[in-house]
Amino acid sequence: MLTYEEALAHVLAAMPPAKPVEVPVAEAAGRFLTESVSSPLALPPFDNSAMDGYAVRAADVASAGTDKPVALRLVGQVGAGQVFKGSVGVQTCVRLFTGTPLPAGADAVVMQEDTHADGDTVQVLDRARPWENVRLRGEDVKSGAVIATPGVRLGAGHLNLLAAVGTASVRVAKRPRVALVSTGSELRPPGKPLVPGQIYESNRPMLASLLAECGAEALPLPLVPDTLNRTRSALQRAFTECDAVVTTGGASVGQLDFVKAAFAELGGSQEFWKVALKPGKPFIFGSLAGKFLFGLPGNPVSAYVTFLLLVRPALLRWQGANEISLPSHPGTLAEPLVNRGDRRHFVRVRVDAEGVAHSAGTQASHMLHSLAAANGLVDVPPETTLAAGAVVRVLRCSGGL
Ligand code: AMP
Ligand code: MG
Repeated sequence: MLTYEEALAHVLAAMPPAKPVEVPVAEAAGRFLTESVSSPLALPPFDNSAMDGYAVRAADVASAGTDKPVALRLVGQVGAGQVFKGSVGVQTCVRLFTGTPLPAGADAVVMQEDTHADGDTVQVLDRARPWENVRLRGEDVKSGAVIATPGVRLGAGHLNLLAAVGTASVRVAKRPRVALVSTGSELRPPGKPLVPGQIYESNRPMLASLLAECGAEALPLPLVPDTLNRTRSALQRAFTECDAVVTTGGASVGQLDFVKAAFAELGGSQEFWKVALKPGKPFIFGSLAGKFLFGLPGNPVSAYVTFLLLVRPALLRWQGANEISLPSHPGTLAEPLVNRGDRRHFVRVRVDAEGVAHSAGTQASHMLHSLAAANGLVDVPPETTLAAGAVVRVLRCSGGL
């Protein structure tokens, strides 16, 4: 049985480099950049006004105040998208608006609220220092500066910056297409009546949501009853249509656990099977023609935890991501967390706004209400009790984030 670190290292080492595809910037949210992007221009591209007001020469209004206004002659107006043709000479000013280019000759902007306009005379009621209320060319981004690097996950702010420097499309990692194969003769899709002995299948919607969160595209396939033939044909289809396959169930030692055998019949190479984790000891990792099998346990809680600890980082690495660990932060335990077993237990917790972590409820791996309530996991080492009040690292997971 592998330790978690061994299993993770193995899975990560098997991932190929990201495959770049070109996408419009407007569709790149959540994607992982595979190139470095430099700005072809400076931002702001020209000196411009930070206010609605008047472009002035700071020296002309150095002594202005409410009680001693300075009168300037208004020589023009410049609107958004325009450039003032003339220049601002001694004791003159030009009306302008936020973002409009600073006219030649001016070196400051007096905000409208500090003026009083009367025909073509503007009384300035406050002094202006040189370059006051002026946004300088290149103070945000220098021309040629690197604005985004490979492996970054593009967020809304990146999209804005890329568009602001005129980028229409970027190269990002191809999204992994991942088949979801749920095995178990007892499983029925929600929406259909159950007969005694059956349960509703609940792993595919959960895993599709976790896949979407890590940038992958889920292809849920039909439910697979526990026979070798049906499992093999389901895996065959999954490996034909997708880059990776996530199965649930049938990964244990039961007579009706066919995932390993079916995968072997297809020519798949099983890399490892068991990991010293709770929940989630049975976990198959295998490869087949450059594609990957992640065989998760059927218990939804085990499937959830092993997905987050082993599949998520793999799919992020597949996309060339810089950050592949779950986000985490310190939390204070509201109550003791006890692990009497010999495997690390990733305990489901709910962290409140103050960073206090409460157990999310009963921790058995068939307990779904505590899975729904959890927004974090705490790694409790074997045969260890973490005391109430202890400061622990909380791995954040979906649910009430
Ligand atoms: P298995 O790993 O196939 O032995 O399944 C372990 C437990 O998880 C059993 O109680 C199954 O009924 C349950 N289970 C397996 N797959 C699913 C699924 N897709 N949805 C809900 N429960 C499942
Ligand atoms: Mg089963």
